[in-house]
Amino acid sequence: MTARRLDGRKLASRIESDLAGRVARFVATAGRPPRLMVVLVGEEAASGSYVKSKAAAAGRVGITADVIAVPATVTTTELVNLVAAIGRGERGPADGILVQLPLPDHVDAIAVLDAVPPDRDVDGFHPENAGLLSQGRPRFIPCTAAGVQRMLIDAGVETAGRHAVIVGRSDIVGKPLALLLAGRGAGGNATVTLCHSRTADLGGLTRQADILIAAVGKPGLISADMVKPGAAVIDVGINRIEQQGRSRLVGDVDHDAVAAVAGALSPVPGGVGPLTVAMLLENTLQAAVARQAG
Ligand code: NAD
Repeated sequence: MTARRLDGRKLASRIESDLAGRVARFVATAGRPPRLMVVLVGEEAASGSYVKSKAAAAGRVGITADVIAVPATVTTTELVNLVAAIGRGERGPADGILVQLPLPDHVDAIAVLDAVPPDRDVDGFHPENAGLLSQGRPRFIPCTAAGVQRMLIDAGVETAGRHAVIVGRSDIVGKPLALLLAGRGAGGNATVTLCHSRTADLGGLTRQADILIAAVGKPGLISADMVKPGAAVIDVGINRIEQQGRSRLVGDVDHDAVAAVAGALSPVPGGVGPLTVAMLLENTLQAAVARQAG
């Protein structure tokens, strides 16, 4: 079997076209574009390039994105104060606010994320939004988890009654995705197994998966013998590796070998990444609409 390629770029561009129309309607009634404020700490190349692609995508659909760059030497208190000031509108109207992760080790990331007003928390990381998601009444769903679910729905992968195995239990990806897939509604009603670094017999569990999602950050972790023939495999991992003197991005899945076994497989790059950005734009428009109505 050669797996169907789950093309995140194509889907993200369809989502962007739809969003552009909805943003234009928002501008027509509100008299201003939605605005996203991004706080970027330090000069880490990966974070900088993620922020650039978020701002570029925002621009394509008519959302204003402003990046506030802060040196890596910033303290927790300074960063909390900055985020709170943005939340109070001191840097102009902000419908969505996000702090690009990871933060430097000396910064208390939880304290900074807690300072984002929950009604503008377009990353969905504030405990209020995590709580709403866990109760099945989500406000802002973390973008990568939302992107994975959207990809499954769009590809017509049935989730109801199927076994979804997620590898990785982070607050950003694995945990919210487990809640989404086990929740009610479209793209939900799956039976979910959440695996992590202490899981015994990982392969024994992944081989049972109708839907397998890898969100770990370890290249080649998911080998072909860990995949049930015909399964849908979503590769969330983003890893930079050096190969034959060149640097390139790969996921957590041994792509070519797994493609010979799986029924569907998302590539890296061009899979979940573009959808994460598209879901951020969705959340930003949603925040702007809610603020305008409120
Ligand atoms: P994290 O480091 O917070 O979590 C990694 C998880 O993997 C942990 O829960 C850990 O228990 C688990 N783990 C580690 N080793 C394991 C092993 N050998 N077997 C099973 N589980 C193991 O990572 P994160 O922030 O969730 O990100 C995971 C990956 O997804 C990274 O590569 C990251 O770059 C990528 N990512 C991609 C996107 C995207 O848009 N495509 C967004 C966020 C994260």
